[in-house]
Amino acid sequence: MNALVRPQRKLTEQDYEAIHRTPLMNLHGALYTGIVDPVPNPSPMSEAEGAWVREHVWTEPFTAIDRKYPFGFWRWSMCERGTCWNCLNKRCDICVHRQKGAPHVDRGTEGVHNHLGQRVAALILRPGGERCVWWCRCPCAKTGPAPARPGPPPKEPAAEPPPAEPAAAARPQRRPLQAPAVGGQLPLPGAP
Ligand SMILES: [Zn+2]
Ligand SMILES: [Zn+2]
Repeated sequence: MNALVRPQRKLTEQDYEAIHRTPLMNLHGALYTGIVDPVPNPSPMSEAEGAWVREHVWTEPFTAIDRKYPFGFWRWSMCERGTCWNCLNKRCDICVHRQKGAPHVDRGTEGVHNHLGQRVAALILRPGGERCVWWCRCPCAKTGPAPARPGPPPKEPAAEPPPAEPAAAARPQRRPLQAPAVGGQLPLPGAP
């Protein structure tokens, strides 16, 4: 199955500020679900109208979760998701959808929630069975030979333990995206 090529979100300085304000646990959730750089589908509703609905129509259980994420949580469908966490860390060789060989596919249902946020029924979104999928939006190929793993080439084994400085300098490129230290920041591309 060929990956869909769809535009990637160009994160602005303001976007990075929102991302770096995100509590660590929610940031991991956002990375895992591809909503660190989501791209909204065209909508007849303006962003201001959407904000009004969230403020005046949504109940507290929805807003409580939504506001913990840099660009909200409940408002993104599968096909609006952005770049996978490995590609965000410049590890296109292990792009999530390269490894999986397929996109994430939406179940096609959504919950109907009561005023307490409890799911009380299932809403069938696409009764015709149309697929709503998340293909990582990074332009890297998802099939064929994997791009080279970035980072410096392996060094000759040294008799002495290597000095601390080069190892520390190489670490950000070699490590897959992991939890940053408390108070640390994610090594997102272009981050100021
Ligand atoms: Zn990639
Ligand atoms: Zn990817």
